[in-house]
Amino acid sequence: MKRILVTGGAGFLGSHLCERLITDGHEVLCVDNFFTGTRANIGHLQGHKRFELLRHDVTFPLYVEVDQIYNLACPASPIHYQHDPVQTTKTSVHGAINMLGLAKRTKARIFQASTSEVYGDPEVHPQPESYWGKVNPIGPRSCYDEGKRCAETLFFDYWRQHKLQIKVVRIFNTYGPSMHPSDGRVVSNFIVQALRGEDITIYGDGQQTRSFCYVDDMIEGFVRMMESEAELTGPVNLGNPGEFTMLELAETVLSMAGSKSKLVFLPLPTDDPKQRQPDISLAMERLSWSPRVPLEDGLKSTIQYFRKALAIC
Ligand code: NAD
Ligand code: UDP
Ligand code: UDP
Repeated sequence: MKRILVTGGAGFLGSHLCERLITDGHEVLCVDNFFTGTRANIGHLQGHKRFELLRHDVTFPLYVEVDQIYNLACPASPIHYQHDPVQTTKTSVHGAINMLGLAKRTKARIFQASTSEVYGDPEVHPQPESYWGKVNPIGPRSCYDEGKRCAETLFFDYWRQHKLQIKVVRIFNTYGPSMHPSDGRVVSNFIVQALRGEDITIYGDGQQTRSFCYVDDMIEGFVRMMESEAELTGPVNLGNPGEFTMLELAETVLSMAGSKSKLVFLPLPTDDPKQRQPDISLAMERLSWSPRVPLEDGLKSTIQYFRKALAIC
């Protein structure tokens, strides 16, 4: 049994991770400021004797005793991370410094939830970890993209300078149950719109692509990375290589939800990446990991979850 800190533990991925770690027999300290996360996400864990919740903003120092740290705190949806962009950069950068300082003092192994956004609007396709990316440093997405890039820099400097045990993964678009109905990312938007009979909002012409990974596969990748040999620092891409246009996603969601919603076309947000697909050779080789859940299966359980969630909203 280890004492494990999960920052952003009340969010979408964080709550699934807390649940997995409790199931694996660990003691979990969930830290969250509830910016995009909710108490409801971890409601079923509250009262468990190995689970503790602390309301705290990672931009401030945190003194606790732990064996491992999963650093997930950071809003992930463009509408939320652009709401207060200065706070987003602070969360990524000051949050990383504080968690790395904590890892240094406690000698904890530390995991960073980085992102495919470090590749920006990529000119190399699919994206391997060796690609340095094409990122606008001054646009509306930069607070997130550059914040995460700077966090990676800090992780590798603490590794080189202070010999920390770091584990950096680059997460590609992940979806599943317990996403917030107003999260704003594409999978939840399309499902919520389809179930409510509202128009499906396609940004741009819908020909841009993304690769969608089901949450259970992603959490398995997190745990394998954290438990991997000490020499493996990453960055390691985690994602599902299945690549779809947003139009294809919309059609699939409509037919699976049995919805008659119409498609409407809205302006493409600034700097929206045109294509994204992970090269997961490294994860396959070093973690023996690859995603198992095809898009249709993952969408089925996500649609089921939203049917229930919207009924009580
Ligand atoms: P989310 O928005 O559901 O979760 C983020 C959590 O962090 C929320 O609970 C939020 O309240 C918390 N948080 C935000 N700022 C904080 C702060 N200053 N102090 C403490 N808590 C704070 O998003 P998610 O999809 O669960 O993403 C989790 C992590 O994974 C993020 O770091 C995100 O960048 C990364 N990621 C996710 C995806 C994805 O597709 N889901 C893709 C790439 C990277
Ligand atoms: N820190 C923290 N918890 C700890 C240890 C450090 O939050 O248990 C924070 C502290 O605010 C510090 C930061 O982590 O500013 C970086 O710590 P480090 O030891 O690397 O640097 P220093 O303390 O020398 O600034
Ligand atoms: N998108 C869309 N309609 C929506 C939400 C998003 O067409 O209601 C598009 C968005 O422009 C982008 C893709 O879907 O091209 C994925 O967007 P998301 O916000 O989920 O993630 P990210 O852009 O960070 O990959």
